[in-house]
Amino acid sequence: MTEVPPLFAEMPAPQTPKLIGIARMAAESGLLEGKRRVEYREIEAKSYISRCPNPQLPFKWTINPYRGCEYGCKYCYARYTHEFMELRDGDLFETRIFAKQFDAEAFRRELRKIPWEETIAIGTATDPYQPAERRYEITRRMLEVLARMPGMRFWITTKSDLIVRDIELLKRIAGHSQVSVNMTVTTMDARLARLTEPYAPRPELRIGAVEELRKAGIAAGVSLSPILPLLNDSEESIDAVVGAASRAGAQWVWHNVLFLRACARAVFFPFLEREFPEIVGRYKARYNRTDFIKGEYLDSVKAKVDRARDRHGIESGLVRRREAASEKSSSMGRPQMVLPFILSVP
Ligand code: SF4
Repeated sequence: MTEVPPLFAEMPAPQTPKLIGIARMAAESGLLEGKRRVEYREIEAKSYISRCPNPQLPFKWTINPYRGCEYGCKYCYARYTHEFMELRDGDLFETRIFAKQFDAEAFRRELRKIPWEETIAIGTATDPYQPAERRYEITRRMLEVLARMPGMRFWITTKSDLIVRDIELLKRIAGHSQVSVNMTVTTMDARLARLTEPYAPRPELRIGAVEELRKAGIAAGVSLSPILPLLNDSEESIDAVVGAASRAGAQWVWHNVLFLRACARAVFFPFLEREFPEIVGRYKARYNRTDFIKGEYLDSVKAKVDRARDRHGIESGLVRRREAASEKSSSMGRPQMVLPFILSVP
């Protein structure tokens, strides 16, 4: 008989940590659907609208219809949001997706409390048009509520062409509220996009969606974000995105350079080691002690984006919706402004 080593024999059984709040709700959530890679669960929503804690951002409120994001972008900073549910494995953020139980009346009550001049950003920590939306339609149901509430002010950030499904709804909303769409396109190189954003729609599909939105008269632009040093920061790569955006009728191209939280570094560095081992050392030298790059590099990227915008005749993040203002006046008589897009991860 094998003797049990005393150290282990004497050790008390590990205690299961007591889960509270959102972590408890995640643990108790019912399985909606499981498929090969991704598991969908339904989760109770205490509220749908959250106050944005960062006063530097140009919106006060955020809405994320899902928790977790199936697109699995290697640089995604939102992975930490799963940690609130004690789901710390980096993969679970992209493979265990929670759909929020939707109560239209409760959502409407929350919306009524938002002052009209305060902007709501939809899709700051998950993509509101990720594959789960095809089935659960929570984003769509939220838009249906917004379509009956004039005088709202919000934007949607996505990487998905599924948004064209909701064009008719968005048109109705644009008749009485300020709505704009921010499509994230980091590269026109489908191969690079497949590596860095493995399960997101191809870049040309996203650009096609911008074109459809613009044809329908919806304010829409492109977020070239994040710029990944040494991967998509060449003059050629930036020009390809800005040119495609311009040809699609995008009203702006906005950019931001990669910032890497610890939770993102844990996924992004091993990814670089696998796919781009020749540059991982340079990334670590820059990002190991700080989440943000500072200094001349930022200026050089900005200069490249500015040159591309000049070449293609397109504006930056802060643009006046001259077209929209002349095409139709807001029923509320409010200024027609498309706000800068500081957060543009999805
Ligand atoms: S689409 Fe956005 S939220 Fe989703 S994984 Fe990519 S970066 Fe994260």
